[in-house]
Amino acid sequence: MESFPTVLYEAVLVAFGKILAKYDGFTQGVIMRDIGKEIIDYLNAHGYEFKETGSLEDMHTLVDLFVKNGFAESLVVRPAEPGKNYIYKNLYGRPAYKELYDLTLNPFLSCPLNLCMVYVAGKYGKRMVMHRKDFISDSITEAQYELVDDDTPEGSLNELVVSSARLFEIADEKQKLYRHQSITDPLTGLHNRRYLLEEGERLYKLAARGRKPIAILLLDIDYFKLVNDRFGHGTGDTVLRLIADICRRCLRDTDLVGRYGGEEFVVILPNSKLPAALEIAERLRSEVENATFQTEKSGDLALTISIGVNCCPAVGGSFETALDNADAAMYQAKQYGRNKIAVYDPCPQTHTV
Ligand code: GH3
Ligand code: MG
Ligand code: MG
Repeated sequence: MESFPTVLYEAVLVAFGKILAKYDGFTQGVIMRDIGKEIIDYLNAHGYEFKETGSLEDMHTLVDLFVKNGFAESLVVRPAEPGKNYIYKNLYGRPAYKELYDLTLNPFLSCPLNLCMVYVAGKYGKRMVMHRKDFISDSITEAQYELVDDDTPEGSLNELVVSSARLFEIADEKQKLYRHQSITDPLTGLHNRRYLLEEGERLYKLAARGRKPIAILLLDIDYFKLVNDRFGHGTGDTVLRLIADICRRCLRDTDLVGRYGGEEFVVILPNSKLPAALEIAERLRSEVENATFQTEKSGDLALTISIGVNCCPAVGGSFETALDNADAAMYQAKQYGRNKIAVYDPCPQTHTV
């Protein structure tokens, strides 16, 4: 028999998929119930027998299973205060939860015991109310649940849903943050290589479909290694940030700019023909040439960049090839003596000198 966590993780994903296909979203307690039922069915089908006998003991058995496997703690139905029954404590920050969270990116789904309990409790005319929640530490949250009579069958799980809604918001914020982190260069705050390649490919295809031009600029700082060697890496980093600021300042909202690698930046100009692309390249080149790079440690520095421009009528080919060609043009600009702009020429042999 497979281990409990493995089967449980599968159960959650399978249940989630089934329920997603059935409803639009998690707005109703009844959906929690449905997911709980699917999870229990899955566990049962995979050897973790959970017989429903029609008593509160069922809930004990269920919690017991999760307690034994490190997903919950303390299964005593005990009156904590007169009229209140704490049924179990859930420790959200435990490793078992974390794994499930990493898998689902959703704190709601990473608490399968809640979902199962909501289902089982509902069968016996009870609903669960999150009675207390303590943030024990940054990573551990302890929640205590109480069973109360379910006298409002429709929407009976509202309270639990409301507390789960906050968890959803947190999950949403986290997902957005992860996405932002995964496409952003932490040093400059510009888009990173991954995003440039993804978005560049998309824009390139869009241009090809619409038979529109698209221009790609590859910027490389001249003699940047010397900045690092003479003034240290910290100053080098400051310079990279200042160049990023110049790029942001010089470009329009529809243009895309990112840090492609160490001291190389890529600018993508959708719907731009060569003259417009050259104008922007020249603006970037001269802004950098005329800027004073004020660094805290090393005083004011002067710098230049070399730019390769590739303006494509994007029919056929790929974005990556177009980028390689912009890179080839950038090397030409270096050879011309740096602080220069060079344009990729797809058929140099046709040129006469
Ligand atoms: P060229 O004019 O031919 O472009 O010369 P260069 O010195 O700029 O070129 P080279 O490729 O030899 O050097 C690039 C340097 O960029 C080397 C590396 O140490 C530095 N670098 C790459 N990433 C970072 C970074 O994140 N921070 C800092 N400070 N330096 C970086
Ligand atoms: Mg370089
Ligand atoms: Mg360089």
